[in-house]
Amino acid sequence: MKDELLELKTRALEELKSVTENPQLEEWRKRYLGRRGHLTLLLKRLPELSKGERPPIGKLANEAKEELSREFQSKLDSLSAREEDESFLDVTLPGRRTPRGHWHPITQTTEQICAIFSRLGFAVVEGPEVELDYYNFEALNMPKDHPARDMQDTFYISDNVVLRTHTSPMQIRVMEKQLPPVSIVAPGKVYRPDSDISHTPMFHQVEGLLVDKGVSFGDLKGTLTTFVHQMFDPDTKLRFRPGFFPFTEPSAEVDIQCVICKGEGCRTCSYTGWLEILGSGMVDPEVFKIVGYDPEDISGFAFGMGVERIAMLKSGVDDIRLFFENDIRFLRQF
Ligand SMILES: [Zn+2]
Repeated sequence: MKDELLELKTRALEELKSVTENPQLEEWRKRYLGRRGHLTLLLKRLPELSKGERPPIGKLANEAKEELSREFQSKLDSLSAREEDESFLDVTLPGRRTPRGHWHPITQTTEQICAIFSRLGFAVVEGPEVELDYYNFEALNMPKDHPARDMQDTFYISDNVVLRTHTSPMQIRVMEKQLPPVSIVAPGKVYRPDSDISHTPMFHQVEGLLVDKGVSFGDLKGTLTTFVHQMFDPDTKLRFRPGFFPFTEPSAEVDIQCVICKGEGCRTCSYTGWLEILGSGMVDPEVFKIVGYDPEDISGFAFGMGVERIAMLKSGVDDIRLFFENDIRFLRQF
């Protein structure tokens, strides 16, 4: 029995060396020190021994039990110490990246547009998206039954309140409060019930207005040409076509040479070589009268552009809806 005992102890200590995890250690404890463990069973056999053999073997067995218990405890300590260390700090682990956001591409484009006009001396103004019919239509030379209202489908909140269909109401709001000279750009959200590959019910515009003594169509051309050359390539060609807006007279639509094909003709420009990017014109004297300016004394020009349109041309995106689906893989590219 003495040999059996010594052999058991050696085997137990040997096995303990290879234990590296808590569950494994617990199994080891059960196997040797548990109620049905090898050592416990062996101790139960002590009464089988003769009276002379019993004391020395008994002493040996107790020593073995103590030693195994001691070794168990020290293994337990070292395992839990290691676990604690790991949960605190493992300097070899890669760092956790803090997610960083950035401006939405439409915000970036709006900022770029406004920055160019700021350098030209225009102030940036903002106004309400829920707008009175008066500012959105009437004061811009579109009385209730004016046919031009059909040009812009409108979300009506009530007979006299609309979601603004353009940022042009800001022209009126500013001129009402301020005497000439006026030079402003008004960026912001606008709303029209439209949805397809090139329209979303909400989109963004930047409207511009300059009023002073002796402002001419030449000033309008010069300002918009400077803008286009700073927003796109400095050698981009422009084309002014006659257009119609109820609040400007004369009016001009502005095309730029296609930024994709450089005028050769491609799908984006419908093989014309030109892209429409702006509406503009000389402020209609009727609008000046409405805000109390004297059209004999001053003149001015106004222009408006869609921010999405410009963002699409600059980045080669061909579906406007991508900007508002908020797919992070798309947005990350800007
Ligand atoms: Zn083209």
